[in-house]
Amino acid sequence: MVFDCLRWIDEELPALEAKGRRRKLLSRSNAQAAVIALDGREYVNFGTNDYLGLAADPRLAEAVASALDQYGWGSGASPLILGHAELHRRLEEQIAEFEGVEAALLFTSGFAANSGTIAALVGPGDAVFSDRKNHASLFDGCRLSRADIRVYPHADPQALDDLLEKTTAYRRRLIVTDSLFSMDGDFAPLKEIAEIAEKRRAMLLVDEAHATGVFGDRGRGACEMLGVEDRVPVRIGTLSKALGGIGGFVAGSRTLVDWLVNRARPYVFSTALPAAVSAAGLAALEIVKNEPFRRGELLVKAADLRRELSAQGWRLGNSASQILPVIVGESERAVALSQKLRARGLFVPAIRPPTVPEGEACLRISLSYAHSPAMIGKLLESLYDARSLA
Ligand SMILES: *Cc1c(COP(=O)(O)O)cnc(C)c1O
Repeated sequence: MVFDCLRWIDEELPALEAKGRRRKLLSRSNAQAAVIALDGREYVNFGTNDYLGLAADPRLAEAVASALDQYGWGSGASPLILGHAELHRRLEEQIAEFEGVEAALLFTSGFAANSGTIAALVGPGDAVFSDRKNHASLFDGCRLSRADIRVYPHADPQALDDLLEKTTAYRRRLIVTDSLFSMDGDFAPLKEIAEIAEKRRAMLLVDEAHATGVFGDRGRGACEMLGVEDRVPVRIGTLSKALGGIGGFVAGSRTLVDWLVNRARPYVFSTALPAAVSAAGLAALEIVKNEPFRRGELLVKAADLRRELSAQGWRLGNSASQILPVIVGESERAVALSQKLRARGLFVPAIRPPTVPEGEACLRISLSYAHSPAMIGKLLESLYDARSLA
C-alpha cells in the first residue's frame, strides 16, 4: 500500500473538534453587507470588518468597472517588473496625502504589509518588541525577521520601557503594536509608547488596520485621534476593512518607502494587485473624506451598544470601539451562544483559542455604519433572552 504521508491530519482534526476548535468555512451568496445570505437563509451580519458599509457601495464597483475598461483585470507581474500601474501610483499619492506623510506603498494585503515591513526593518542582531495581543501578521513578521522577539504584556508601557532599558546591546530595536486591537476592541497607549520609543531610541511601527477610516477627525486612525501621528514613523493600514476593498499600505517617509520597495519581500516577490483594485481604494478614500458622518454615526452607535450590553450584565473587557467582544469564557459556551443567535437570524461569530487566550472565548460583535437601529435592537433583545447561556 502507498504510504499516506498526510494520515496524521485524520487524527489532528477530530482532536480540534473535541476541543470545540474546529473551524469551517461558510460561503456567502450575496454582497458583504448588513444582511448576508448563507445556505438560502438571511442573517443580520455582525461579523463584518466593513465598518463604514463601503464593501457593497455601488460607487466602488463603478470605479472598478471603469478602471477595468482601461487596464483589464490581471496585473501580470510584481510591482518592480511592471506590475505597478499609474492607478496604483495615484492611490499611493492619495494615501500619503490622506495620512499627511511624504509617501505610501501599496501591498497586496495588510498581512503582507505588516510581515514584509517588519522583516525589512530588523534582522539578526536586532530586537523587536511586540504586544502580547498583536495581530498574527505582526507576529509572523517578527518571526520572519529573525530578530530577537520580546513580547510585552498587553498595553503595558511600563513593562515595555523596562524591557527596552535592559536590552541596549542590540544594533536596532523596533516596537510593533496594533493601534486598535482586533479582538478586544481596545486601544494601545500610543502616547506613552511613542514617548518610550523616543526616549529609548527605538523605531516604532503602528498597525491601524481596524482604525483607518473610523477614528480621528479626518478618519486617519487612532494615531490621529491620540495626537501622535508625527511620532509614529511607520504607520500601516488596510484597504480591506473600513475602506471596503482589498490591499494593505505603509505610510511614512520617502526614505522608508524607497527601502521597502527594495527590501520588503512580499512586495518584491509577489504579483501586484490588479490596477482596478486601486480604483476602489481611491473611491473609498474620497468617501471617507466627504462623508465623515459615517464614522461619526458608527461611533455613537457603538458607544450606545456598549452601554446597553453592559447594563444587561455582559462582560466587554476594555472595548472602546466598534469591536465589542462579549466575553463568555469557555469555547463551547461561545459556540452555543453564537448558534442561539444564528437561529434568530443574527450572525455573530464565536472567537475561540488560539485566536484569543484560553478561557477568554467570546462573541465578537463588529458594528457597521450599515446596521439599522432595528438590527441592533434585535441583537440586544436576542442576547437578553440568551443570557442564561453565559
Ligand atoms: C485584518 C488585520 C490585518 C491584515 O489586514 P488584511 O488587509 O486583511 O490582510 C493586519 N492587522 C490587523 C490588526 C488586522 O486586524
